[in-house]
Amino acid sequence: MNRSMTNLFTLPKIPPFARENFDASFVQADKVMMVLLLVQWAIATFITSVSFDTYLYGFISGGSITLSALGVYRYYKGTQLMRVVAAIAMMLFSVVYIQQHYGRIEMHFHVFIAMAILSLYKDIVPVVVAAMTTILHHFVFNYLQLYEVSLFDMPVMVFNYGCGIDIVLLHGVFVLVEVIVIAYIIKLQIEYGVELNRSENQILGLNEELSYTSMHDTLTGLPNRQSLRSKLNLILANADRNQKKFAVLFLDLDHFKNVNDTLGHVVGDALLKTVAKKLTSIVRANDVVSRIGGDEFIIILNEVKENTALENVIIKILEAFRKEWIIQGHFLRLSVSIGASVYPDDSKEIDELMKFADIAMYKAKAEGRDQFSFFTGELNRKIHEEVEIANDMFRALEEEEFLLYLQPKIEIATGKIIGAEALIRWNHCTKGLIYPNSFIPIAENNGFILKLGTWILYETARMIRRLERAGYNDIHISCNVSTRQFQNLNMYSDIDTAIREHGINPNLFAIEITESVMMQYLEVTLEVLKKIKNLGVHICMDDFGTGYSSLSYLQKFPIDSLKIDKSFVDDISENGDNEHILINTIIAMGQTLNLHVIAEGVEESYQEEYLKSRGCSYYQGYYFSKPIGEERFFELLARNRS
Ligand code: C2E
Ligand code: CA
Ligand code: CA
Repeated sequence: MNRSMTNLFTLPKIPPFARENFDASFVQADKVMMVLLLVQWAIATFITSVSFDTYLYGFISGGSITLSALGVYRYYKGTQLMRVVAAIAMMLFSVVYIQQHYGRIEMHFHVFIAMAILSLYKDIVPVVVAAMTTILHHFVFNYLQLYEVSLFDMPVMVFNYGCGIDIVLLHGVFVLVEVIVIAYIIKLQIEYGVELNRSENQILGLNEELSYTSMHDTLTGLPNRQSLRSKLNLILANADRNQKKFAVLFLDLDHFKNVNDTLGHVVGDALLKTVAKKLTSIVRANDVVSRIGGDEFIIILNEVKENTALENVIIKILEAFRKEWIIQGHFLRLSVSIGASVYPDDSKEIDELMKFADIAMYKAKAEGRDQFSFFTGELNRKIHEEVEIANDMFRALEEEEFLLYLQPKIEIATGKIIGAEALIRWNHCTKGLIYPNSFIPIAENNGFILKLGTWILYETARMIRRLERAGYNDIHISCNVSTRQFQNLNMYSDIDTAIREHGINPNLFAIEITESVMMQYLEVTLEVLKKIKNLGVHICMDDFGTGYSSLSYLQKFPIDSLKIDKSFVDDISENGDNEHILINTIIAMGQTLNLHVIAEGVEESYQEEYLKSRGCSYYQGYYFSKPIGEERFFELLARNRS
């Protein structure tokens, strides 16, 4: 009861998304009020005016009330101002009736109007205003009565305590009107009540859905990262209490991107769903399978007794992936790389356990995918070392610890050095000489490669100037540029200024790019390469044959030379009787497209001979010289030229 009273008297807090509905219902209620006012106007003019001929008074005063209210309605419908005005207008009609000597009817109106306002609007303000109006008018009229003021030349109100049949009949009419109006209001209330209930149910449903989706991955329905975390908290507490171990497996599908790229996202999504089902079916019920993004899953294996048991589960997962998957009519080969960390052996922290499993997964990937790797302290040390290197690189550049080594490029026909590839080295103050493979990937990751790349471009230009000054004005130097540098617009202007500042012949400057450069940001890359080429700079395609470049790419890009990747040269064996189709093809391709072809990684004389016999013009490799410091390169050059 109490609750329904408060419901009656308070305007519910309206949620933003329901606002529109409520506004609509308020406007409709305003409309009902306006109709009521029109009805009252008619009553004041034609009915309550009968006994004392006050029809003109009824018409004018009723009209001014009704028309003012309608004026407000036109501009303010649906607002609280409108509700207040409607309430006052209703109450003012009772004043009119009193003046027309129908005081009894007035009482009906007080009750009826208050009910109408409350139930229509559920807004306490208009009711209070209406009550105030009533009190005020009693006050004023009792006062006016004393002075017998008359309005519109008609007899002023006399309290009519006696009651004739006409009044009784009029009451009847009013009661009828009240019944009809209230019935209509109740009908509206029921409708809106139902509507409100429905909205409330919708909100509840929505809430449920929201809390589900916030904890689950929408695609596979597996727990997501957030819910994994809360589950891990429980599992950890449980393992702690019972002195049990558990394992965190980090899974990443191998080459999933290929599936997405070649077969589309629909197939990719379907595959992920199937993988989710498969994983769930492999592990036990109290283990947790979750998807934490893209093609990454984390599995928590509860209560691991020993590492061999853990290994068995992992092998089972790897095996399950190795079969052929049929997804939407496509036959897919799939594999997965898995990294594992164990609580409490590796760490007692949830975040660390996940991070360690991730690190171990990366090791599995790096070692060729389709395998698993356990987190080890050794791995951790390596990671720490990488972080250290990453932080140390900025200092090293300041303190000039980087230098370029040079590896000669030889013309096979003459044995002459025609140029060199600049290869970076880090002469670390405490660690000694560090090779690029241990810091270039890190520099590419943290963006340092952009700074370092600029330094390399300038240093290459300086090197060419020193060579020119020494009289070698036909030796070109090539430097390696990383894909990351192509994503930055400075590279072109760096090369341009480096060449101009040092006043070198641009034809002696070369850059080596890999096929991956061409695959990314095709249009932009092409643009940049063309501009660089227009400077007169030579462009060499490095590691050729390992990527995906097609003939059409080669034609489209302004390339001057192809470098046959070392892996193909490695295949050339001593008893040089077998043919190496790929090498032959690359050489032939170079000749057709009018490109220089150079082989890298030549370590043996028979490799050089094979290349020579198939028409390859240039090579570099340990067979002639390893990358060497500048001074030694000059010595080598001097000997080679004499
Ligand atoms: P890359 O561009 O393919 O360079 C050739 C690598 O093969 C060099 O290793 C070189 O020393 C090595 N090499 C040359 N001849 C032989 C051979 O006969 N046998 C063997 N086993 N190896 C040979 P390095 O100097 O350690 O460089 C490794 C990679 O690091 C380079 O591969 C290149 O991708 C990157 N790198 C080196 N210097 C730079 C640089 O200045 N900037 C950028 N962005 N990357 C660089
Ligand atoms: Ca290279
Ligand atoms: Ca290479």
